[in-house]
Amino acid sequence: MREETTVVHSGLHPERHHGAVNPPVFHASTILSETVAEFRRRRQNWILEQPGTYYGRFGTPTIEALQEAIAALEEGYRSVVYPSGLAACAGALLAFLSAGDHLLMSDTVYGPTRNFANGFLKRFGVSTTFFDPLAGHSIESLIRPETRAIYLESPGSLTFEVQDVPAIAEAARRRGITVIADNTWGTPLYFKPFAHGVDVSVQAATKYIVGHSDAMLGAITCTKEAWPKLRRSTHELGQTAGPDDVYLGQRGLRTLAVRLKQHWKAGVALAEWIARQPEVERVLHPALPGDPGHAIWKRDFTGACGLFGVVLKEGITERALCAMIDGLELYGIGSSWGGFESLIVPFDPRETRTATQWPHKGPCFRVHAGLENVEDLIADLEAGFKRLRST
Ligand SMILES: *Cc1c(COP(=O)(O)O)cnc(C)c1O
Repeated sequence: MREETTVVHSGLHPERHHGAVNPPVFHASTILSETVAEFRRRRQNWILEQPGTYYGRFGTPTIEALQEAIAALEEGYRSVVYPSGLAACAGALLAFLSAGDHLLMSDTVYGPTRNFANGFLKRFGVSTTFFDPLAGHSIESLIRPETRAIYLESPGSLTFEVQDVPAIAEAARRRGITVIADNTWGTPLYFKPFAHGVDVSVQAATKYIVGHSDAMLGAITCTKEAWPKLRRSTHELGQTAGPDDVYLGQRGLRTLAVRLKQHWKAGVALAEWIARQPEVERVLHPALPGDPGHAIWKRDFTGACGLFGVVLKEGITERALCAMIDGLELYGIGSSWGGFESLIVPFDPRETRTATQWPHKGPCFRVHAGLENVEDLIADLEAGFKRLRST
């Protein structure tokens, strides 16, 4: 089956649900058994990973539908849902690290993931070294005997550096180090983590999988080898996700392939238009041929989502940037991305990184290209750049 087909059919079992196309939304904690023997059988089946459930926290048909679909699309062995993307990032790290271990984390990971390493993991005896996202094979020099995991995010949050995932994964594999990757930008469609040597893949499903800005959701997918640890840790932590949000995740997933094509096209069109404005120092978008990450993006990814960054020239003031952004009519000012609507937020990459130096001095902003008409989106930006110029 090709991907668009898997997106539509994976995880759906109408024959189990009176023919209904979509899985029913099970609001369930207790699952009753007729007899003690059945109760014990359910429990034993769960331990042995046989079908059927025995307690709401361990899964329902609603949850299984989404987990099955994400695992199929990422081409992993199993997937588990978490209540948010960040909970999934944290859950993936907790499953594979113990006190005394060392973690290598890309310098351009999602800020809250970095905070989790610097806060929670540090308190529990795990030390972290942040590394240049462009490290590639040279990651070897940072590996210590106690290094147990390498955490990647490609392209990086806000600044979109594309990592050489296969090179890093190869260095890790030779030493039995677990490679965890946040694959939210690539989505399960445009980057296949396991084919590139990743062991554990994290999705902030809140973004493109839900796709409509109306639910928080995360997912972790892994290889067969990594599954026992991930399963155990997820259940020890008591992680699961609410049935309605899981339902919205699987509902959003069915249109992921068509939505992404449009986000991709619109994102490139906006990025190309923005790159031509004289106030722009650089556009940060790996799908543009001039981008430093373009060659690796082309080698490893099969598409791009609608999220990219922009660096303005030095000397452009905060006041001018705000005049531009505040007056936009079609772009919301807000965190998150991946919904049907366009978004824009200013950012400063110097606030988070420690292993690398941000070379630009001008102000930056991030754009999420939504599903609006592209010419309308450009016209709105055009008016925005006029305000920027006249402020
Ligand atoms: C948003 C985001 C997350 C966190 O997801 P939430 O659902 O907001 O908790 C993690 N990683 C990346 C790359 C993100 O953009």
